[in-house]
Amino acid sequence: MRRFRIAVIAIIAAAAGSLFLPGQASATPYPETWLPDSGLHTYCFTAGFSSSIDPGTGTYAMSILDSTTDMTISNLGACSASTTDVWWWSLDLAGTIRGQAECIVFSGSVCDSADVRIDFAQIDIGDNDIADRDKTSVHEIGHTIGLGHHSPAAHNCAMISGEIPSLDIIWRRYDAHDISHINAQF
Ligand SMILES: [Zn+2]
Ligand SMILES: [Zn+2]
Repeated sequence: MRRFRIAVIAIIAAAAGSLFLPGQASATPYPETWLPDSGLHTYCFTAGFSSSIDPGTGTYAMSILDSTTDMTISNLGACSASTTDVWWWSLDLAGTIRGQAECIVFSGSVCDSADVRIDFAQIDIGDNDIADRDKTSVHEIGHTIGLGHHSPAAHNCAMISGEIPSLDIIWRRYDAHDISHINAQF
């Protein structure tokens, strides 16, 4: 009798373990950076970004945010300090930095206006340049809506650091876990 009870407990423990681990593996906190001022995320291209090697990567990242989350995207055309949430820049960043996001104007605890800076020359070192630009753009916009860096130990998404490991689309997208955080906020 005693042996039977022990066996049953062991099976329940194993089942609970297998159910729990996938959820735990994908979890990341939110926000990890800062929150934008609303679910309407407006953007503009500076002159340097418009005339860069690939302004389409900025359009790509904004459209991914628009189509995969509850946030709404609007291209304001001209950059305006008072109304634009994200300014896109093409710059030669320090050292080997490929992209950068920085909140320039905080309104209390939320960000009114952020810069996204892309260093195309750095991104284009190595393989898969076009997809790597798109990953970097989705990644930097991710920082402007609260996402930090996600290692494959958490889940696979655009918030990994560095080169994309492959052309798999998951490296140019937010994970379902990221999207659930964003949609719960906006
Ligand atoms: Zn980053
Ligand atoms: Zn993620």
